[in-house]
Amino acid sequence: MRPPEKIASVHPFQFKSRLQTSMLVTQISSHISQSHMSIEFTVFKGSANGGIVQSRTQRAAPTGNQVLVKITHSGICGSDEHFKHADMVLGHEGVGTVLQIGESVSQFKVGDIVGWGLLHKTCGRCEQCEIGDDQYCANVEHYGAHNLDQGSFGSHAIWDASFLFKIPVGMAPEDAAPLMCGGATVYNVIESYNIRPTDRVGVVGIGGLGHLAIQFLVKMGASVVVFSSTESKREEAVRLGATEFYATKDVERLEMPAKLDHLLVTTSVMPDWNLFIAAIKPRGTIYPLSMPTGSDISLPFAPIFMSGLTVQGSLVAARSVQRKMLNFAARHEVKPIIERFPLTKDGVEEGMERLRAGKMRYRGVLVADLQ
Ligand SMILES: [Zn+2]
Ligand SMILES: [Zn+2]
Repeated sequence: MRPPEKIASVHPFQFKSRLQTSMLVTQISSHISQSHMSIEFTVFKGSANGGIVQSRTQRAAPTGNQVLVKITHSGICGSDEHFKHADMVLGHEGVGTVLQIGESVSQFKVGDIVGWGLLHKTCGRCEQCEIGDDQYCANVEHYGAHNLDQGSFGSHAIWDASFLFKIPVGMAPEDAAPLMCGGATVYNVIESYNIRPTDRVGVVGIGGLGHLAIQFLVKMGASVVVFSSTESKREEAVRLGATEFYATKDVERLEMPAKLDHLLVTTSVMPDWNLFIAAIKPRGTIYPLSMPTGSDISLPFAPIFMSGLTVQGSLVAARSVQRKMLNFAARHEVKPIIERFPLTKDGVEEGMERLRAGKMRYRGVLVADLQ
């Protein structure tokens, strides 16, 4: 339990006793009956007109396997944009400090730095759970559909300990935040679909996902071929370790020394498929990683058929893969390039606007105590 003055300094977080609302924070720093306690904290939600609304959420204090996290950092992911018209708390790349734990939590202690991503909880009983495919659990709880009263755009959140991850020693919390969804999304492809150091891997787009994909692939030893519409990001791609770079605007045929084993498409605007499919080896695989805004993907079938290509869906990462991703990133210094915004209503609006305008270089991170 933290000393009283630490809890008292936490703002805008409040403890409230259902039985005795006048109870002071200094009094509840010692042992308390958790079942009699509720907790109220600040959250930032979407709304019908797409504006950000500051609100408050009240929850029971953590019991059992639950952990109360004081959020210090949150990444801004493209998926948050999809929910800005919903009456729900936004944000799913959270990092913060453990403030309180339920009686069954053994893997975390107060003061630990933890993060979470898209997934909140799985059933542990279905076939997908049995084989460790958390994200495809038949009863999965995840961002956008469950626990709509809390997210990483807020002051605090209460999560099941089994879906929180310890941030590796030496990794800055602001660097960890974009890894919780963005990093998981790109690393899962490498881990789950067996991309090897001997492979030639194409990455379409240098943005929040793309700049992380390049780094993970380079650090694991693959030959990385980066595609962007114009020349403007060539230097950045090379600096991140890309082996080759091609600007694709108005290009009808890619002149490359060899074809690709894999193609990671990280843009939400779908590329010229004919251009790229011609650049993939027979039996190669295409991974569309970003949800296209408001449309399905339309692919030319004949070349996919004739070359035996695979189009592979992939959704974030199971916990085992998420842990490998975090450890790999810490060990090999995979670091997101970030822009910081205050974790306030104005900060959320500014960050989301910048992402929407395509100006973010390359991941926005909301910071609770930004000076
Ligand atoms: Zn399950
Ligand atoms: Zn995301």
